[in-house]
Amino acid sequence: MRAAEVVIIGGGPAGLIAAAETARLGLDVLLLEEDEIVGRPERCAGLYSIRGLERLGIQLSKKYVQNLVWGGVIHSPSGEAFEVSSPEPVAIVAERESFDRYLAERALKMGVETRLGSRATSCSLGIDSKSCVTRLEGGAEIKSEAAIIAEGSAARLSRRVFKDYYAPFWLPIVQLIVKNHGLDKRAAHVWFKSYLKDFFGYLVPINEELGKLGVAARQDPLRKAQRLIKEEMPGAKILGYSVHSVYRGPPLELGLKGRILLAGDVAGQVKATTGGGIVTGGLCAKAAASHIHKLLREGVDGAYKTATRGLYRELKATYWISRMLSGLSDKNLDDIIRSIRESGFNKSLSFRGDMDFQVTGVLKSLATVQGLRFATSLMRSLI
Ligand SMILES: Cc1cc2nc3c(=O)[nH]c(=O)nc-3n(C[C@H](O)[C@H](O)[C@H](O)COP(=O)(O)OP(=O)(O)OC[C@H]3O[C@@H](n4cnc5c(N)ncnc54)[C@H](O)[C@@H]3O)c2cc1C
Repeated sequence: MRAAEVVIIGGGPAGLIAAAETARLGLDVLLLEEDEIVGRPERCAGLYSIRGLERLGIQLSKKYVQNLVWGGVIHSPSGEAFEVSSPEPVAIVAERESFDRYLAERALKMGVETRLGSRATSCSLGIDSKSCVTRLEGGAEIKSEAAIIAEGSAARLSRRVFKDYYAPFWLPIVQLIVKNHGLDKRAAHVWFKSYLKDFFGYLVPINEELGKLGVAARQDPLRKAQRLIKEEMPGAKILGYSVHSVYRGPPLELGLKGRILLAGDVAGQVKATTGGGIVTGGLCAKAAASHIHKLLREGVDGAYKTATRGLYRELKATYWISRMLSGLSDKNLDDIIRSIRESGFNKSLSFRGDMDFQVTGVLKSLATVQGLRFATSLMRSLI
Protein backbone atom coordinates (compact mmCIF):
# COMPACT_ATOMS: atom_id res chain seq x y z
CA MET A 1 0.00 0.00 0.00
CA ARG A 2 1.34 3.43 -1.05
CA ALA A 3 1.48 6.03 1.76
CA ALA A 4 1.51 9.84 1.73
CA GLU A 5 0.94 12.34 4.52
CA VAL A 6 -1.89 14.04 2.62
CA VAL A 7 -3.98 12.80 -0.31
CA ILE A 8 -5.84 15.32 -2.44
CA ILE A 9 -8.60 14.07 -4.70
CA GLY A 10 -9.30 16.23 -7.75
CA GLY A 11 -6.89 18.22 -9.90
CA GLY A 12 -9.12 21.25 -10.58
CA PRO A 13 -8.17 24.69 -9.19
CA ALA A 14 -9.27 23.89 -5.62
CA GLY A 15 -7.30 20.62 -5.49
CA LEU A 16 -4.23 22.15 -7.16
CA ILE A 17 -4.22 25.19 -4.85
CA ALA A 18 -4.71 22.96 -1.78
CA ALA A 19 -1.91 20.67 -2.96
CA ALA A 20 0.58 23.50 -3.59
CA GLU A 21 -0.16 25.08 -0.20
CA THR A 22 0.06 21.76 1.68
CA ALA A 23 3.42 21.03 0.06
CA ARG A 24 4.63 24.58 0.71
CA LEU A 25 3.92 23.98 4.39
CA GLY A 26 6.28 21.01 4.27
CA LEU A 27 3.92 18.02 4.03
CA ASP A 28 4.24 15.10 1.65
CA VAL A 29 1.34 15.39 -0.83
CA LEU A 30 -0.13 13.05 -3.42
CA LEU A 31 -2.74 14.52 -5.79
CA LEU A 32 -5.09 12.25 -7.72
CA GLU A 33 -6.85 13.41 -10.90
CA GLU A 34 -9.10 11.06 -12.83
CA ASP A 35 -8.54 12.73 -16.23
CA GLU A 36 -5.37 12.20 -18.22
CA ILE A 37 -5.04 15.96 -18.89
CA VAL A 38 -5.44 18.73 -16.32
CA GLY A 39 -8.00 21.45 -17.16
CA ARG A 40 -10.07 19.60 -19.73
CA PRO A 41 -12.79 20.00 -20.72
CA GLU A 42 -12.77 23.82 -20.52
CA ARG A 43 -15.61 24.55 -18.06
CA CYS A 44 -15.28 28.21 -17.19
CA ALA A 45 -15.67 31.76 -18.42
CA GLY A 46 -12.31 32.42 -16.78
CA LEU A 47 -13.18 35.79 -15.24
CA TYR A 48 -11.09 36.08 -12.05
CA SER A 49 -10.47 39.21 -10.03
CA ILE A 50 -6.85 40.36 -9.91
CA ARG A 51 -7.21 41.10 -6.19
CA GLY A 52 -8.52 37.56 -5.66
CA LEU A 53 -5.55 36.02 -7.46
CA GLU A 54 -3.26 38.17 -5.31
CA ARG A 55 -5.06 36.90 -2.19
CA LEU A 56 -4.35 33.37 -3.44
CA GLY A 57 -0.70 34.17 -4.12
CA ILE A 58 -1.12 33.30 -7.83
CA GLN A 59 0.94 35.44 -10.18
CA LEU A 60 -0.48 36.73 -13.44
CA SER A 61 1.12 35.01 -16.40
CA LYS A 62 0.93 35.31 -20.16
CA LYS A 63 0.65 31.54 -20.10
CA TYR A 64 -3.05 31.78 -19.24
CA VAL A 65 -4.22 35.43 -19.38
CA GLN A 66 -6.31 36.08 -22.50
CA ASN A 67 -7.61 39.56 -21.72
CA LEU A 68 -7.78 42.25 -19.03
CA VAL A 69 -11.11 43.62 -17.84
CA TRP A 70 -11.66 47.09 -16.36
CA GLY A 71 -15.26 46.65 -15.23
CA GLY A 72 -18.71 45.52 -16.24
CA VAL A 73 -22.03 46.64 -17.67
CA ILE A 74 -25.25 45.39 -16.12
CA HIS A 75 -28.36 45.47 -18.35
CA SER A 76 -31.95 45.39 -17.11
CA PRO A 77 -34.80 43.55 -18.92
CA SER A 78 -36.04 46.78 -20.60
CA GLY A 79 -32.57 47.95 -21.66
CA GLU A 80 -31.62 50.20 -18.72
CA ALA A 81 -27.92 49.80 -17.88
CA PHE A 82 -25.22 50.92 -15.52
CA GLU A 83 -21.47 50.58 -15.77
CA VAL A 84 -18.91 49.83 -13.11
CA SER A 85 -15.41 50.67 -14.20
CA SER A 86 -12.04 51.27 -12.69
CA PRO A 87 -9.02 53.31 -13.87
CA GLU A 88 -7.02 50.08 -13.99
CA PRO A 89 -7.81 46.43 -14.78
CA VAL A 90 -9.75 44.66 -12.03
CA ALA A 91 -10.01 41.19 -13.54
CA ILE A 92 -8.43 38.87 -16.04
CA VAL A 93 -9.99 36.55 -18.55
CA ALA A 94 -8.15 33.26 -18.29
CA GLU A 95 -7.97 30.38 -20.68
CA ARG A 96 -8.99 27.76 -18.16
CA GLU A 97 -7.00 24.78 -19.43
CA SER A 98 -3.79 26.85 -19.42
CA PHE A 99 -4.69 28.26 -15.97
CA ASP A 100 -5.10 24.76 -14.52
CA ARG A 101 -1.86 23.66 -16.21
CA TYR A 102 -0.11 26.68 -14.66
CA LEU A 103 -1.45 25.67 -11.22
CA ALA A 104 -0.31 22.08 -11.82
CA GLU A 105 3.23 23.23 -12.72
CA ARG A 106 3.26 25.44 -9.61
CA ALA A 107 2.19 22.48 -7.44
CA LEU A 108 4.86 20.30 -9.02
CA LYS A 109 7.52 22.92 -8.20
CA MET A 110 6.36 22.86 -4.57
CA GLY A 111 6.98 19.10 -4.52
CA VAL A 112 3.48 17.71 -5.10
CA GLU A 113 3.33 14.26 -6.65
CA THR A 114 0.50 14.18 -9.19
CA ARG A 115 -1.09 11.04 -10.57
CA LEU A 116 -3.20 11.66 -13.66
CA GLY A 117 -5.71 9.05 -14.84
CA SER A 118 -6.28 7.99 -11.21
CA ARG A 119 -9.88 7.94 -10.07
CA ALA A 120 -10.57 7.61 -6.36
CA THR A 121 -13.57 5.39 -5.64
CA SER A 122 -13.70 5.83 -1.88
CA CYS A 123 -12.03 7.67 0.97
CA SER A 124 -12.59 6.71 4.59
CA LEU A 125 -11.16 7.11 8.07
CA GLY A 126 -9.07 4.27 9.46
CA ILE A 127 -10.30 2.40 12.58
CA ASP A 128 -8.05 4.60 14.74
CA SER A 129 -9.68 7.77 13.24
CA LYS A 130 -6.12 9.07 12.78
CA SER A 131 -5.54 7.84 9.25
CA CYS A 132 -7.39 7.76 5.94
CA VAL A 133 -7.59 5.13 3.24
CA THR A 134 -8.25 6.15 -0.37
CA ARG A 135 -9.18 3.43 -2.81
CA LEU A 136 -8.51 3.78 -6.52
CA GLU A 137 -10.28 2.34 -9.50
CA GLY A 138 -8.41 -0.91 -10.13
CA GLY A 139 -8.18 -1.72 -6.44
CA ALA A 140 -4.99 0.01 -5.25
CA GLU A 141 -5.12 1.70 -1.82
CA ILE A 142 -3.32 4.76 -0.48
CA LYS A 143 -2.90 5.35 3.22
CA SER A 144 -2.58 8.94 4.45
CA GLU A 145 -2.89 10.97 7.61
CA ALA A 146 -5.43 13.36 6.07
CA ALA A 147 -7.31 13.93 2.81
CA ILE A 148 -8.90 16.83 0.95
CA ILE A 149 -11.69 16.00 -1.49
CA ALA A 150 -11.90 18.63 -4.26
CA GLU A 151 -13.88 16.64 -6.81
CA GLY A 152 -16.03 19.50 -8.14
CA SER A 153 -19.63 19.07 -9.23
CA ALA A 154 -19.32 15.27 -9.55
CA ALA A 155 -19.61 14.87 -5.75
CA ARG A 156 -19.70 11.07 -6.21
CA LEU A 157 -17.18 10.46 -3.46
CA SER A 158 -18.49 13.11 -1.07
CA ARG A 159 -21.99 11.66 -1.21
CA ARG A 160 -20.51 8.34 -0.07
CA VAL A 161 -18.15 9.75 2.55
CA PHE A 162 -20.61 12.20 4.14
CA LYS A 163 -23.97 10.62 4.83
CA ASP A 164 -25.51 14.10 5.25
CA TYR A 165 -24.09 15.48 1.98
CA TYR A 166 -26.87 17.48 0.37
CA ALA A 167 -26.36 19.99 -2.44
CA PRO A 168 -29.33 20.21 -4.81
CA PHE A 169 -28.22 23.61 -6.07
CA TRP A 170 -26.68 22.78 -9.44
CA LEU A 171 -28.07 24.45 -12.52
CA PRO A 172 -27.35 23.42 -16.14
CA ILE A 173 -25.28 26.04 -17.93
CA VAL A 174 -24.38 26.37 -21.57
CA GLN A 175 -21.27 28.31 -22.56
CA LEU A 176 -20.79 29.37 -26.16
CA ILE A 177 -17.80 30.83 -27.96
CA VAL A 178 -19.10 33.70 -30.08
CA LYS A 179 -17.38 35.68 -32.83
CA ASN A 180 -18.12 39.34 -33.67
CA HIS A 181 -19.78 40.18 -30.35
CA GLY A 182 -19.31 43.87 -31.16
CA LEU A 183 -18.81 44.89 -27.49
CA ASP A 184 -15.95 46.65 -25.72
CA LYS A 185 -13.33 44.03 -24.85
CA ARG A 186 -12.52 45.86 -21.59
CA ALA A 187 -15.90 45.12 -19.96
CA ALA A 188 -17.83 42.00 -19.01
CA HIS A 189 -21.56 42.19 -19.72
CA VAL A 190 -24.47 40.86 -17.68
CA TRP A 191 -28.08 40.77 -18.91
CA PHE A 192 -31.19 40.25 -16.81
CA LYS A 193 -34.05 39.06 -19.01
CA SER A 194 -37.58 37.90 -18.35
CA TYR A 195 -36.72 34.51 -19.96
CA LEU A 196 -33.57 34.18 -17.80
CA LYS A 197 -35.19 33.93 -14.40
CA ASP A 198 -32.86 31.21 -13.02
CA PHE A 199 -29.68 33.20 -13.73
CA PHE A 200 -28.48 36.09 -15.87
CA GLY A 201 -26.77 35.84 -19.24
CA TYR A 202 -23.14 36.95 -19.53
CA LEU A 203 -20.50 37.77 -22.08
CA VAL A 204 -16.86 37.64 -21.05
CA PRO A 205 -14.74 39.08 -23.88
CA ILE A 206 -11.60 37.19 -24.96
CA ASN A 207 -10.70 40.01 -27.38
CA GLU A 208 -12.46 42.53 -29.69
CA GLU A 209 -13.90 39.67 -31.71
CA LEU A 210 -14.32 36.59 -29.54
CA GLY A 211 -16.17 36.11 -26.28
CA LYS A 212 -17.54 33.47 -23.92
CA LEU A 213 -21.30 33.75 -23.57
CA GLY A 214 -23.09 31.84 -20.83
CA VAL A 215 -26.69 31.13 -19.90
CA ALA A 216 -27.79 28.92 -17.03
CA ALA A 217 -31.38 27.74 -16.92
CA ARG A 218 -33.31 24.74 -15.70
CA GLN A 219 -34.85 24.42 -19.16
CA ASP A 220 -33.54 25.06 -22.68
CA PRO A 221 -30.35 26.99 -21.81
CA LEU A 222 -29.07 26.70 -25.39
CA ARG A 223 -32.25 28.08 -26.95
CA LYS A 224 -32.22 30.94 -24.41
CA ALA A 225 -28.57 31.68 -25.20
CA GLN A 226 -29.38 31.83 -28.91
CA ARG A 227 -32.21 34.27 -28.16
CA LEU A 228 -29.86 36.43 -26.07
CA ILE A 229 -27.36 36.55 -28.94
CA LYS A 230 -30.09 37.48 -31.43
CA GLU A 231 -31.29 40.33 -29.21
CA GLU A 232 -27.99 41.73 -27.93
CA MET A 233 -25.36 40.93 -30.56
CA PRO A 234 -27.19 40.20 -33.80
CA GLY A 235 -24.00 40.13 -35.88
CA ALA A 236 -22.39 37.42 -33.74
CA LYS A 237 -21.64 33.92 -34.95
CA ILE A 238 -21.58 30.85 -32.67
CA LEU A 239 -18.32 28.92 -33.03
CA GLY A 240 -19.09 26.17 -30.52
CA TYR A 241 -20.67 25.40 -27.19
CA SER A 242 -20.42 23.10 -24.18
CA VAL A 243 -22.81 22.18 -21.38
CA HIS A 244 -21.87 22.04 -17.68
CA SER A 245 -23.44 22.82 -14.34
CA VAL A 246 -22.95 25.77 -12.05
CA TYR A 247 -23.46 25.98 -8.27
CA ARG A 248 -26.05 28.46 -6.96
CA GLY A 249 -26.34 27.42 -3.31
CA PRO A 250 -24.88 28.22 0.10
CA PRO A 251 -21.50 26.87 1.26
CA LEU A 252 -21.52 23.45 2.97
CA GLU A 253 -19.97 22.76 6.35
CA LEU A 254 -18.74 19.18 6.31
CA GLY A 255 -15.62 17.50 7.61
CA LEU A 256 -14.67 14.18 9.22
CA LYS A 257 -12.72 14.42 12.47
CA GLY A 258 -10.63 17.17 10.91
CA ARG A 259 -8.96 14.50 8.73
CA ILE A 260 -11.15 14.45 5.61
CA LEU A 261 -12.13 17.88 4.33
CA LEU A 262 -14.03 19.17 1.31
CA ALA A 263 -12.82 22.13 -0.75
CA GLY A 264 -13.99 24.01 -3.85
CA ASP A 265 -17.25 23.49 -5.76
CA VAL A 266 -18.03 20.21 -4.01
CA ALA A 267 -18.27 22.20 -0.77
CA GLY A 268 -20.36 24.93 -2.42
CA GLN A 269 -17.60 27.50 -1.88
CA VAL A 270 -18.98 29.53 -4.76
CA LYS A 271 -20.55 32.99 -5.12
CA ALA A 272 -24.18 32.06 -5.73
CA THR A 273 -24.82 35.35 -7.54
CA THR A 274 -22.40 34.56 -10.36
CA GLY A 275 -21.41 30.90 -9.95
CA GLY A 276 -17.77 32.03 -9.70
CA GLY A 277 -15.73 29.74 -7.47
CA ILE A 278 -12.07 30.00 -8.42
CA VAL A 279 -11.08 32.61 -5.85
CA THR A 280 -13.51 31.66 -3.06
CA GLY A 281 -12.88 27.90 -3.51
CA GLY A 282 -9.16 28.62 -3.73
CA LEU A 283 -9.15 30.61 -0.48
CA CYS A 284 -10.97 27.75 1.27
CA ALA A 285 -8.56 25.22 -0.29
CA LYS A 286 -5.63 27.17 1.18
CA ALA A 287 -7.39 27.21 4.54
CA ALA A 288 -7.92 23.43 4.33
CA ALA A 289 -4.19 22.96 3.69
CA SER A 290 -3.30 25.14 6.65
CA HIS A 291 -5.79 23.24 8.86
CA ILE A 292 -4.17 19.91 7.99
CA HIS A 293 -0.70 21.31 8.63
CA LYS A 294 -1.79 22.52 12.10
CA LEU A 295 -3.51 19.20 12.85
CA LEU A 296 -0.60 17.00 11.80
CA ARG A 297 2.27 19.13 13.08
CA GLU A 298 0.76 20.77 16.18
CA GLY A 299 -2.19 18.51 17.02
CA VAL A 300 -4.57 21.51 16.74
CA ASP A 301 -8.01 20.83 15.19
CA GLY A 302 -10.59 23.37 13.97
CA ALA A 303 -8.43 25.80 11.98
CA TYR A 304 -10.46 25.28 8.76
CA LYS A 305 -13.67 26.48 10.33
CA THR A 306 -12.01 29.46 11.99
CA ALA A 307 -10.16 30.55 8.84
CA THR A 308 -13.22 30.32 6.58
CA ARG A 309 -15.75 31.84 9.00
CA GLY A 310 -15.70 35.34 7.42
CA LEU A 311 -15.79 34.01 3.86
CA TYR A 312 -18.63 31.60 4.73
CA ARG A 313 -20.63 34.51 6.18
CA GLU A 314 -20.07 36.39 2.93
CA LEU A 315 -21.02 33.38 0.74
CA LYS A 316 -24.19 32.76 2.74
CA ALA A 317 -25.20 36.42 2.35
CA THR A 318 -24.41 36.19 -1.37
CA TYR A 319 -26.68 33.15 -1.60
CA TRP A 320 -29.60 35.04 -0.02
CA ILE A 321 -29.01 38.02 -2.34
CA SER A 322 -29.05 35.70 -5.36
CA ARG A 323 -32.37 34.20 -4.18
CA MET A 324 -33.81 37.68 -3.72
CA LEU A 325 -32.65 38.74 -7.20
CA SER A 326 -34.29 35.74 -8.87
CA GLY A 327 -37.58 36.63 -7.16
CA LEU A 328 -37.64 40.22 -8.51
CA SER A 329 -40.01 41.24 -11.30
CA ASP A 330 -38.69 42.83 -14.50
CA LYS A 331 -40.03 46.18 -13.27
CA ASN A 332 -38.16 45.84 -9.95
CA LEU A 333 -34.93 45.09 -11.83
CA ASP A 334 -35.49 48.04 -14.17
CA ASP A 335 -36.10 50.34 -11.19
CA ILE A 336 -33.02 49.13 -9.33
CA ILE A 337 -30.70 49.40 -12.32
CA ARG A 338 -32.05 52.86 -13.29
CA SER A 339 -31.70 54.09 -9.69
CA ILE A 340 -28.11 52.85 -9.50
CA ARG A 341 -27.20 54.80 -12.64
CA GLU A 342 -29.16 57.97 -11.82
CA SER A 343 -27.87 58.19 -8.24
CA GLY A 344 -24.25 57.63 -9.30
CA PHE A 345 -24.13 54.60 -6.98
CA ASN A 346 -22.27 52.73 -9.72
CA LYS A 347 -19.34 55.15 -9.20
CA SER A 348 -19.27 54.30 -5.53
CA LEU A 349 -19.38 50.58 -6.44
CA SER A 350 -16.49 51.13 -8.86
CA PHE A 351 -14.28 52.30 -5.97
CA ARG A 352 -15.51 50.18 -3.07
CA GLY A 353 -16.88 47.07 -4.80
CA ASP A 354 -15.12 43.73 -4.53
CA MET A 355 -15.78 40.97 -7.08
CA ASP A 356 -15.22 38.25 -4.47
CA PHE A 357 -16.65 39.90 -1.38
CA GLN A 358 -19.68 41.35 -3.15
CA VAL A 359 -21.96 41.87 -0.16
CA THR A 360 -19.23 43.58 1.87
CA GLY A 361 -18.43 45.79 -1.15
CA VAL A 362 -22.08 46.80 -1.61
CA LEU A 363 -22.50 47.56 2.10
CA LYS A 364 -19.37 49.75 2.07
CA SER A 365 -20.66 51.52 -1.06
CA LEU A 366 -24.06 52.15 0.54
CA ALA A 367 -22.38 54.19 3.29
CA THR A 368 -21.61 57.02 0.85
CA VAL A 369 -23.52 60.03 -0.48
CA GLN A 370 -24.29 58.16 -3.72
CA GLY A 371 -25.37 55.13 -1.66
CA LEU A 372 -27.86 57.22 0.29
CA ARG A 373 -29.08 58.84 -2.93
CA PHE A 374 -29.57 55.37 -4.46
CA ALA A 375 -31.46 54.06 -1.43
CA THR A 376 -33.76 57.13 -1.43
CA SER A 377 -34.40 57.00 -5.17
CA LEU A 378 -35.10 53.25 -5.02
CA MET A 379 -37.56 53.70 -2.16
CA ARG A 380 -39.37 56.39 -4.17
CA SER A 381 -39.68 54.19 -7.25
CA LEU A 382 -40.82 51.15 -5.28
CA ILE A 383 -43.48 52.91 -3.21
C1 LIG B 1 -19.73 27.62 -17.65
C2 LIG B 1 -19.03 27.98 -16.38
C3 LIG B 1 -18.43 29.23 -16.27
C4 LIG B 1 -17.75 29.59 -15.08
N1 LIG B 1 -17.13 30.80 -15.05
C5 LIG B 1 -16.43 31.14 -13.93
C6 LIG B 1 -15.72 32.38 -13.89
O1 LIG B 1 -15.74 33.16 -14.84
N2 LIG B 1 -15.04 32.68 -12.74
C7 LIG B 1 -15.00 31.82 -11.67
O2 LIG B 1 -14.38 32.15 -10.65
N3 LIG B 1 -15.64 30.63 -11.71
C8 LIG B 1 -16.34 30.27 -12.82
N4 LIG B 1 -16.99 29.06 -12.87
C9 LIG B 1 -16.91 28.18 -11.70
C10 LIG B 1 -15.57 27.45 -11.69
O3 LIG B 1 -15.37 26.80 -12.91
C11 LIG B 1 -15.58 26.45 -10.53
O4 LIG B 1 -15.85 27.15 -9.33
C12 LIG B 1 -14.23 25.72 -10.42
O5 LIG B 1 -13.97 24.95 -11.55
C13 LIG B 1 -14.25 24.83 -9.19
O6 LIG B 1 -13.01 24.21 -9.05
P1 LIG B 1 -12.89 22.81 -8.29
O7 LIG B 1 -11.45 22.47 -8.28
O8 LIG B 1 -13.64 22.87 -7.03
O9 LIG B 1 -13.70 21.78 -9.23
P2 LIG B 1 -13.43 21.32 -10.72
O10 LIG B 1 -12.86 22.41 -11.52
O11 LIG B 1 -14.71 20.73 -11.18
O12 LIG B 1 -12.33 20.20 -10.58
C14 LIG B 1 -12.61 18.95 -10.00
C15 LIG B 1 -11.58 17.95 -10.52
O13 LIG B 1 -11.71 16.73 -9.80
C16 LIG B 1 -11.58 15.65 -10.70
N5 LIG B 1 -12.25 14.50 -10.08
C17 LIG B 1 -13.59 14.39 -9.81
N6 LIG B 1 -13.84 13.23 -9.19
C18 LIG B 1 -12.63 12.61 -9.05
C19 LIG B 1 -12.26 11.36 -8.45
N7 LIG B 1 -13.15 10.55 -7.92
N8 LIG B 1 -10.95 11.02 -8.49
C20 LIG B 1 -10.03 11.84 -9.05
N9 LIG B 1 -10.35 13.03 -9.62
C21 LIG B 1 -11.63 13.40 -9.61
C22 LIG B 1 -12.23 16.17 -11.97
O14 LIG B 1 -11.79 15.46 -13.10
C23 LIG B 1 -11.78 17.61 -11.98
O15 LIG B 1 -10.57 17.79 -12.66
C24 LIG B 1 -17.68 28.68 -14.01
C25 LIG B 1 -18.30 27.42 -14.11
C26 LIG B 1 -18.96 27.07 -15.27
C27 LIG B 1 -19.58 25.72 -15.37
